[in-house]
Amino acid sequence: ADDYSYDYEYLFKIVLIGDSSVGKTNLLSRFTRDEFNPDSRATIGVEFATRTLEINGKRIKAQIWDTAGQERYRAITAAYYRGAVGALVVYDISNSDSYESVSRWLKEMKEHADANIVIALVGNKSDLEHLRAVPTEEAKNFAAEHNLLFTEASALNADNVEFTFHQLIKSIYEMVS
Ligand code: GDP
Repeated sequence: ADDYSYDYEYLFKIVLIGDSSVGKTNLLSRFTRDEFNPDSRATIGVEFATRTLEINGKRIKAQIWDTAGQERYRAITAAYYRGAVGALVVYDISNSDSYESVSRWLKEMKEHADANIVIALVGNKSDLEHLRAVPTEEAKNFAAEHNLLFTEASALNADNVEFTFHQLIKSIYEMVS
């Protein structure tokens, strides 16, 4: 009766990708621990954090992987994508280069990830509206063309972070159930 493997019914591996400094690590810490770290410190080795949530009465454990800086070397390994059922492709709304990189990240993901992976495009740092370099409509249209979910969020003030992850996890759930 004390079998804790029944604490959840589904385990979803979700990967974070996108250029360095767009806020991947902070989106992860905001969602899993409600924490924000203003100092960008290099993480060593691949790591993940988990959070269990309930969707349609089912307990789902989201295991969310951070690149741990691998993206700086343009060498995210195939192992990172292996078994992933969802991905958050993150750019920074105040950095157009990070948005231009999205296509490259999608291409790399297509080479390594499962064909059915559910992908969400996320414009992070929405608190930096005064520095906005990527129009919402442009990113929204890109997402629609490429069949991606789309949100803007802020790991800093927590705006839309819950919704971003919930929307992705719900879409994955609807696909596998
Ligand atoms: P990563 O390299 O993609 O994992 O990015 P980090 O999470 O390390 O964040 C890079 C830098 O951007 C850090 O200095 C963070 O404090 C900052 N940052 C992250 N998210 C936000 C955000 O939503 N708003 C603002 N203004 N800064 C952010």
